[in-house]
Amino acid sequence: MYAMYQKYNNVIHIAQLLTVALCGKIGPPAELQDGSAFAYKDEMSSVWPSPELILGQVAGIDLDSNKNVHVFQRGSRVWDGQSFQAGTGEFRHKDEGPIVEPTLITLHKDTGEVLDARGSNKFYMPHGLTVDADDNVWVTDVAMHQVMKFPKGSDEPELVLGKAFVPGNGNDEFCQPTDVAVSSTTGDIFVSDGYCNSRIMKFNSNGEFITSWGIKNTGSTLPQPNGHFSIPHSITLIEDWDLICVADRENRRIQCFSAGIDGGIPAGTFIKKAEDVGRVYAIDSGNHFLVGVTNRGPSGESPRLFMVDMETGDSQVADADLKNPHDVVADIDEDGSVKAIYVAEIGPNEIRKIEL
Ligand code: ZN
Repeated sequence: MYAMYQKYNNVIHIAQLLTVALCGKIGPPAELQDGSAFAYKDEMSSVWPSPELILGQVAGIDLDSNKNVHVFQRGSRVWDGQSFQAGTGEFRHKDEGPIVEPTLITLHKDTGEVLDARGSNKFYMPHGLTVDADDNVWVTDVAMHQVMKFPKGSDEPELVLGKAFVPGNGNDEFCQPTDVAVSSTTGDIFVSDGYCNSRIMKFNSNGEFITSWGIKNTGSTLPQPNGHFSIPHSITLIEDWDLICVADRENRRIQCFSAGIDGGIPAGTFIKKAEDVGRVYAIDSGNHFLVGVTNRGPSGESPRLFMVDMETGDSQVADADLKNPHDVVADIDEDGSVKAIYVAEIGPNEIRKIEL
């Protein structure tokens, strides 16, 4: 594996060999749906920490450096067909005010005890949540069209990107942004934008715009050209490969691009992809593997959990008793193996923990 890493690393850092990188594996396409069984047993998938924890729609989930579980939930608010203005993405129920219940809940990794509950009277429609390497909590609110950074334990955002309740496609605007990824080395910020834009945006650690890329689908046939998006719904960084991978949800694929953090290949350069994965709602990454969840599709596909080895392309899939997965995070041991996977679900509104 180390040799593979060295080889790949050389490829990705030498721009003139980019065509070689384009042939690199991200994992299997269609065969993912019939891949080998996941190494888990049914009883290892359970509602966590217990059905007694009542949550609203659980939109986002991540782990902090202590492996405690952070969720971003919608309390009594429900996203339905009336929530947003068709075409513009404008939130239609601003007059209902922010969600009164705590939306940011932290749960103890072992006991599931509620360690912290904050974020009441602040958000309108929670979506993505990411805890960065310094335990800052980043969230996206698709109603406010904003991205916010909360320092550990703080109720006040230290950084706010986007214009409140103003959907747009300028360099300082979003339209229903879905997720955030943050570089552990430079602090560069990546945002998937979103339900009504079709782009990935990159900012420096101060929130200053660096670049963006992505084009809305043309026509309806799949696969779409590389760099086209239809609801980029989740993003994850593979930092030692300088890659940012995107769950391109309605294009049923994962696309990976240069993150452009190390000064090599410019950010946004297409590198590799896996087509026909299913409606992939969320992805997370470990040491050269991706964990993800897909949801129901038009041809009767059922929700799935999957894991792809990015070096060999080997994949595993499981139903894991998922009902309506929206976000995913892997708990990865110090030796690089996956200990557990947490899935945030919307309807039923719960956290599912799959122990491996
Ligand atoms: Zn969503």
